[in-house]
This record gives sequence, C-alpha cells and structure tokens, in this order.
Amino acid sequence: TDAIIIGAGLGGLLSAAQLLQRGKRVIIVERLNHSGGRFTAKTFQGVQVSTGAVHMVPFGSSGVLATMLRGLGIPHRLYDADVFGSFHVHGKQYRSRGLLGVLTFLGPVQSLGLLRLGRLMFLTALPEDERNLPFDQWMARYIKVEKNPQLVAFFTSIARFALSVELDQISTAEVVHITKNMFRFGAPGIVQGGCGALTRQLEQQILAQGAQIMHSCEVLQILHEEDRVVGVRIRQKQSQEEQILTAGIVVSDIGPRATDALLESRRVTQAEVLKQQQPEAEDESNWPGESVPEAVGLKVHILSDISLIPHKGIMYCLDTRRIAGMVQPTNSDPTLAPAGKHLLISHQVIQSNNVEEERALAIADLRQLFGPAFDQHCKVLTMGTYRGEWPVNRMAQGTDRGGRSAWQGLYLVGDAVKPSGYLMVEGVAQSVNRFLDLLAE
Ligand code: FAD
Repeated sequence: TDAIIIGAGLGGLLSAAQLLQRGKRVIIVERLNHSGGRFTAKTFQGVQVSTGAVHMVPFGSSGVLATMLRGLGIPHRLYDADVFGSFHVHGKQYRSRGLLGVLTFLGPVQSLGLLRLGRLMFLTALPEDERNLPFDQWMARYIKVEKNPQLVAFFTSIARFALSVELDQISTAEVVHITKNMFRFGAPGIVQGGCGALTRQLEQQILAQGAQIMHSCEVLQILHEEDRVVGVRIRQKQSQEEQILTAGIVVSDIGPRATDALLESRRVTQAEVLKQQQPEAEDESNWPGESVPEAVGLKVHILSDISLIPHKGIMYCLDTRRIAGMVQPTNSDPTLAPAGKHLLISHQVIQSNNVEEERALAIADLRQLFGPAFDQHCKVLTMGTYRGEWPVNRMAQGTDRGGRSAWQGLYLVGDAVKPSGYLMVEGVAQSVNRFLDLLAE
C-alpha cells in the first residue's frame, strides 16, 4: 500500500480517487459501517435524511467540487439555484433573482448602506488594519447599525446559514473572499439523488479502481519513526482484532484535534469533547465560546403536503429568532421525498447551552414563517444537533489550519483545513487540491 486514508468522508474519498488516478495503491479505514461521513443520507420514511449536509453544494455546477468530480469522471448532476435567494422579512417572502433584488425589501436608506459596503468590499482593496476586524465591527465603521436592521440581519442570516458562525466570529477579509468566490463560481446546487448519491458514486469508482475500504474499523494510532509517519494501528469493531497497516503516506480526514491525538495513541470521543465544552454548572454564559473552534448547528428535516418555498435556492430568514435559512430540495429533485410530498430543511446556529430550548425555538420559528400551514401540512421528521466530533464545520470558517503537518508523509484534508474563501464541501475539495500540491512538492 502506498497510502492509508483515515476516514471515508468526502475529503477521504476524493483524496483516494485522486491518488488512484496517480497510480497509487490506497486503503481507506472508516470507523462507521458506511462511507460518506457528514455528506451522505439514509432513507427514512421515503425521505433522504442526511447525516449532515442539506444536499447542497455551495458553488454549484461551476464550483471546485463539481470541477474535481468531472476531472475524476464521477457521474453526478447538480441543479443550480434559479435565484440569488429569497428573504423572509417583514412577515413576507421576497424573491430575489440577483443581488440587487434585495433592495426591494431594504428600502432607500438601507439600500444605500448596502451599496456603500459593496463598494468597499469589491471595488477597493481592504486596508491592512481592517482585514482581521470581525465583520460586525467593520460594518459598524461604515453604516449606522441601528438604522440598518434588515441589512445587518441580511449578513447575519447568510453567515449563520452558510457558515454557522456569528458576524463577530468571522474576519472581514474572509467574508470578502467568500463573497467574491460566490460571484465568481455562481449559485449553489442541489445534488441529484441527494448527497448520499454523490458519495456512493465516488465510493463505487474507488472500489472499481482497486482501492480497499475497511468499514467498521477504527484507526487507534498513527505510527511514526522519528519525524516520518510509517503507518497506522487499527481495530476491527466486530472481532476487536488489532492490526498494523504500513504506508509512506497517511491522509487524515478527521481534523487536527483527533489526528494529533492519534499521533499520541489517544482517542478523541464525542462524549469527552462535549464535556470539555460544557460550561461549569453555575456558569450562565452561552456556548460555544471563543475557545471552541468548530461551527455548531441544529438542522430540521420537515415533510410537507404543500410547497412552501417556490424556488430552488435558499430562503434566508431575517425575522426569525433562530432559523437562519431553509431549502426545499425536492424543487430540484422530487425523488428526495415520496411522490407528491415536499422536503424542507432548516438550519440554525446553536446559541445557548440549552438544546431543548433551541429545538423549541426552531418550532416557534417554523410556525412564524409558515403560519397555520405548518401545523396543518407539515411533519417534523428529524431534529438534530451537530457539534463536538460531528459538527457543521470542524474548524470555523477562516480559522482553518493548513493541510501540512509537522510529520513527513502525514497530510490533512477535509473541512478542518479549508483554504480561505472556500466554504463547506467546496472547502473540502479545495483542501484535497492543496494536499495534491503538497504531495507534488
Ligand atoms: P467527515 O464527513 O466528518 O468525514 C470524516 C470521517 O472519518 C467520518 O466518516 C468518520 O466516521 C471517520 N472517522 C473519524 N475518526 C476515525 C478514526 N479514528 N478511524 C477511522 N475513521 C474515522 N456542506 C455543504 O457543502 N453543503 C451543505 O448543505 C452542508 N450542510 C451541512 C449541514 C449540517 C447540519 C452539517 C453538520 C454539515 C453541513 N455541511 C454542508 C458540511 C459538510 O457536510 C462537511 O463539510 C463535509 O461533509 C465534511 O467532510 P469531511 O470529509 O471533511 O469530514
């Protein structure tokens, strides 16, 4: 074996496909009994219920992931959004074909504010001292926040939906970089068959090309001699049998925290991470605090008898307490739900340590967004929180570490090492591009 890949998430699968294309022999070791990580789905009551993603690829069919899939010859189809988005504000849904459509709900004063910010973001270079300023502070330098509530809510809901962060957790340079990429690559797209169809295709191709995927098998240790990695120690879940695999290249798709632990032969468990992140019992403060690097969220899958969002893009929610945005992916691919039904998925950032309250606020928001239609026509299928070792983003946008490790032969891929400006699975694909550059050095 030339390369061992830890984790069969999207980052691990793409890395395997790229290495195979370069004639390497590859083994993927995956703890779970299936591939795909946070980018796959299970069928539940006829619905594609995902393990993470809302079936959406941020830069659609022109993006980095789509380009990589084409280069690898992986069959797939993406349905690009037909609108820039819609915006639920003032109790109504405003549909916006292009960015300027948002001026209809912003009104004259706030529209001027948006144009001013837009000019500073895109037509001039950001001054050095503004690059690392949190975006909320930067905005407050150029507009009066109290006079621009919907404009602030516009940026807040996009950051919460697309990145699962608040505006004080992301730098201005990162917001500018991401927004430029959104314009450069284009609208997000829904994956035909859902995110599980995409990772299954990748898996099939990798297997057909001779790679081995060891499911239900956990990497317990990354082995090294001096400063070079030489292989891994693994354990089969069923037999509890341990085995050593050797290779000169180890690619980790599990983020720096878990990778560092494996180098010391330690395991990072979900329970341990959550315990460390819980505030002291008497501490009333919210979490995640600044010390928590990952982005956390709550996602709801809803099945509806009637269509509630009339387009293929994202509906950003500016007048809700928690839900930042929603999609109705069955508008793109009706087979994601039983015939005649509509799948809706909402996403929000978890803002307090009280998960029950967060769930109740999600339901209250859904009632506010859709009125009596929600109770008459909708059924909540699942409501899940994503944090610890199964977060929305392993490292919050803009805080990611590079893919190079201190160990020769050890590389990191995945959403903990997304290069700046590339969000979610676009960042995963771009991390694989960077890994290939490092490998070629
Ligand atoms: P993972 O998918 O986490 O893969 C890592 C794999 O490693 C896992 O399968 C895990 O089981 C395995 N593993 C861990 N430890 C070990 C070990 N010791 N030994 C062996 N195997 C191990 N992105 C989008 O682009 N669009 C979206 O719509 C979107 N929505 C999201 C909504 C939610 C609620 C969440 C949670 C995420 C969303 N994302 C979205 C983000 C996207 O899902 C992730 O960025 C992406 O799937 C991460 O892939 P990965 O390969 O980096 O990691």
